[in-house]
Amino acid sequence: MIDSHTHSHHSPDGRGTLTELAETALTLGLEGIAFTEHAEWYPEDEAYDYLDLDAYFAELNAVRAVHYGDLHILSGVELGNPHDFPTQAEAMLDRYPFDLVIGSVHWLDGLPGWQAPTFTPSLQATYCRYFDELLHMVTEADFDVLGHLDIVRRDSWDLFKQTLNLNAFHGTIDQTLQKLIDAGRGLEVNTSGLRKGLPEPNPSLSVLRRYRKLGGEILVFGSDGHRPRQLGHGFKDARNLALAAGFRHTVRYKERRIVDWLTL
Ligand SMILES: [Zn+2]
Ligand SMILES: [Zn+2]
Repeated sequence: MIDSHTHSHHSPDGRGTLTELAETALTLGLEGIAFTEHAEWYPEDEAYDYLDLDAYFAELNAVRAVHYGDLHILSGVELGNPHDFPTQAEAMLDRYPFDLVIGSVHWLDGLPGWQAPTFTPSLQATYCRYFDELLHMVTEADFDVLGHLDIVRRDSWDLFKQTLNLNAFHGTIDQTLQKLIDAGRGLEVNTSGLRKGLPEPNPSLSVLRRYRKLGGEILVFGSDGHRPRQLGHGFKDARNLALAAGFRHTVRYKERRIVDWLTL
């Protein structure tokens, strides 16, 4: 498998050099790793103006030269709310040769999704706004893979040890999945919540089943690891979940195109 969602010291909350992450990936027996650093444009975000892509690509090319042939090393970025900053996002994607671009909703109505004030007046209302925002992003923004589709569950779990059943939001989620499928984009199974005690990855089995039923095939796995030791965490469980939902393959991206289908 490939860990398609990781953060290094090029992200403000990440630790570890690209070499350390690549060597950990090799030790774990992964076939590849994507370094998908944070790009955020809300000035209050700690990742705002943090990523130095010239330095990032210089380090990445050096690691690639060392590990040529033994590990697929993907350049990447995780765009936070790219639909809110289309000019900035487009300029970044035009300028740099990314292999994989993850699109994520991290901010809701100008508030950070991982903080308690965002969850007023109720969890229900916030989930509803989150899935509306996600649909908006999938409709508007340029990216390859949708990151952590129901991260609102991870955040509400982190903050309140509570998650809501997604039944009430399935109409919006279906529209989001359909748009991904129609556009030939992929879905990420993000295992970071498992580290925090969430019983299922993001998205959960019900959403994976729905994606499959609607015709979705493009699936990647991401630990969202911010430390070398977090790489590949929960991949065994995530793989089993994907198999249970009817998936048989994961994919490898290069230059923002799928170049390989890997059997699960
Ligand atoms: Zn994210
Ligand atoms: Zn991330």
